Amino acid sequence: MSTSGGELPTARVLTIAGSDSGGGAGIQADLKTMLAHGVHGMSVLAALTAQNSVGVQDFWPVPADLVTAQFRSVVDDIGVDAIKTGMLADAELVGLVADLLGTLPAPVPVVVDPVCASKHGDPLIAPDAVVALRERLFARADVITPNLGEAALLSGLTVQTPPDELAAALAGSGQTWTLIKGGHAEGEPIDRLYRGAEPVRSYPGPRLSNRHTHGTGCTLASALACQLALGKEMPEAVGAAKRYVTGAIAGGFALGSGIGPVDHLW
Ligand code: PLP
Repeated sequence: MSTSGGELPTARVLTIAGSDSGGGAGIQADLKTMLAHGVHGMSVLAALTAQNSVGVQDFWPVPADLVTAQFRSVVDDIGVDAIKTGMLADAELVGLVADLLGTLPAPVPVVVDPVCASKHGDPLIAPDAVVALRERLFARADVITPNLGEAALLSGLTVQTPPDELAAALAGSGQTWTLIKGGHAEGEPIDRLYRGAEPVRSYPGPRLSNRHTHGTGCTLASALACQLALGKEMPEAVGAAKRYVTGAIAGGFALGSGIGPVDHLW
């Protein structure tokens, strides 16, 4: 959908996540994804990172009062049709965001990307946030989008555990759907969607050789929030989000001396 010529975007999508100073992941990837979907993107900054193509040099949580103020400003005036959460830095912020989601005047789709670490292996949340994600935030989620490593960390199982068992272990945490991303597995990358512990659909995809994939997880979760805001049902919304991120990865480009960002103009 075009928004030129005074046409209004059809949906309002909010990201509650961390800023990536390098512009490849986090809030910056979320807003680019939202623009590409023709929705109006809004942001509650929950954490700031100093990072670039070679890694995350530092991060800071945003004070709770400021997170609350940003959320109220947006929700109470503009309104939201879907929400995506990303890097929430520590247990206090995870709990706060769970509480804030509980104040929404009407339910909207919530996509929780349980971000734990960057591709370089740099931690993006404090260890206590892992438990809080599972015990506080997942109950507010329509869908959670862990990769295999995050699913293992969140369930206390090993990364070698088959996805069906990881999904079953996470099923009791309160979310309706679980999308386990298999991009880091050996062989053909397959994402799998579960409703509770029940497998619903598999999404195989080509293994792309492009190494410039910074921002992949944020982009997928944001694209999913956009598709849900635009009215797609979960299995179709995941398929459309996966197609978007596959195109974005194919177009990923070199920046700096490390891993460059996925592309949103493909
Ligand atoms: N920085 C921020 C703020 C993020 O939210 C994330 C992932 O969600 C990353 C960095 C890591 O991105 P990637 O794993 O694609 O490098």
